[in-house]
Amino acid sequence: EERILDGNLFEDESELLSIRPQKLREYIGQQKIKDELSIYIQAALQREEALDHVLLYGPPGLGKTTLAMVIANELEVNVQTTSGPAIDRPGDLLAILNELSPGDILFIDEIHRLPRVVEEVLYSAMEDYFVDIIIGQGPSAHPVHFELPPFTLIGATTRAGMLSQPLRDRFGIISHMEYYQTEDLKLIVERSSQVFSTEIDESGAQEIALRSRGTPRIANRLLRRVRDYAQVKGNGLITKDITQASLDILAIDDKGLDTLDRRLLMTMIEQYNGGPVGIGTIAVNIGEDLETVEDMYEPFLLQNGFLQRTPRGRIVTPYAYEHLGMIHPDTMKE
Ligand code: ATP
Repeated sequence: EERILDGNLFEDESELLSIRPQKLREYIGQQKIKDELSIYIQAALQREEALDHVLLYGPPGLGKTTLAMVIANELEVNVQTTSGPAIDRPGDLLAILNELSPGDILFIDEIHRLPRVVEEVLYSAMEDYFVDIIIGQGPSAHPVHFELPPFTLIGATTRAGMLSQPLRDRFGIISHMEYYQTEDLKLIVERSSQVFSTEIDESGAQEIALRSRGTPRIANRLLRRVRDYAQVKGNGLITKDITQASLDILAIDDKGLDTLDRRLLMTMIEQYNGGPVGIGTIAVNIGEDLETVEDMYEPFLLQNGFLQRTPRGRIVTPYAYEHLGMIHPDTMKE
């Protein structure tokens, strides 16, 4: 079974690089964030200062990494890239900070997973551009003070609520990334098709956009699969029919739900009478890791009216019953 939502699926980096937009004006959608950023970027450039620290948060695959690279490009500075889980000790952080030149960007993906001891070192680095750390162990341990150049930290996280308050407070610019509108996804699909030298008609782009759950990463993945199908089963041109046929094979339905979404909803319906049930319980039941369910499945299902949040847990909505061809219990009572 192919996993379209698995964040770790191999991606062809060279292809990814070429489909990445370089400038803010090439970055599609997220208009509010772009408008704000473009002002702050211009102001920083005029003052010849480092941009204030930026926190980007939202579900995976919405283009946070891409946006961070775009910001660096606009500022014409270098980026050092790392991720929360990759930095074990303060020394690891220092090694990266040490590479920064004035105005450079440090991008930390999954910043909510930074170990607490590392996070604490980051506070003074962000606020006053220095770090004090202890070098060595036991009797030879001694404190060392390092001055840093002015730099911009861009942090990415799936949920801002998972960041500690002191860390969140140190970001001057906090941007909430939204799921993309179909129109914007369509543009992203058309743009990527050009990079792949794949022909796609309007109805094909529209159909891929509709089934991509508001997420560019998914749109690009679906595009690759549909491109293969169009090449082998058709004449290469991606149309609505070709898209529908190939996405049926992947079991992605017309609302963008995949096998796991449907299994999640069906489990809630069949074993919990549609809820309320806690998200942890559901994750265990469908044999999926809690973080994946919380980051990738639940927000989309909530946002699109398949699930509803209640104080006692999640419930399946009548709309979801209808979509799955199931009868809602309230209807049966009547
Ligand atoms: P995140 O960091 O939020 O998980 P990401 O930046 O890693 O997401 P990708 O998975 O790299 O997102 O996105 C896949 C591709 O989608 C990007 O390489 C880029 O080509 C394209 N893309 C994403 N967002 C946009 C956008 N707003 N405009 C144009 N292309 C985009």
